[in-house]
Amino acid sequence: MTDVSHRDAGLLRVDTDECKGCGLCIEACPPKVIRMDESLNPYGYRTARYAGAGCTGCGICFLVCPEPGAITVLRAARPRQSTAPGQQARP
Ligand code: SF4
Ligand code: SF4
Repeated sequence: MTDVSHRDAGLLRVDTDECKGCGLCIEACPPKVIRMDESLNPYGYRTARYAGAGCTGCGICFLVCPEPGAITVLRAARPRQSTAPGQQARP
């Protein structure tokens, strides 16, 4: 059964026009949630593709990618902490 209460902390987007298929992000991703696509982009490269789940939002793939703009990592917003009585929320 799927745990519907679980949400990934991150989300990976790959711009397939910018990716050159070097595979560095695939090697570097700790939970191994990046795959190489079978299809080719307009420049003839196979490109990285997010497996669709499991991203932690660590950003390592972004750091190792040599192609500016090829990778975007989105991190899920953390829920706001409730304020205890007598405390003020920080701006
Ligand atoms: S942000 Fe981290 S977990 Fe998510 S795809 Fe990139 S390397 Fe993998
Ligand atoms: S590191 Fe960048 S260029 Fe290399 S496969 Fe991943 S997204 Fe493509």
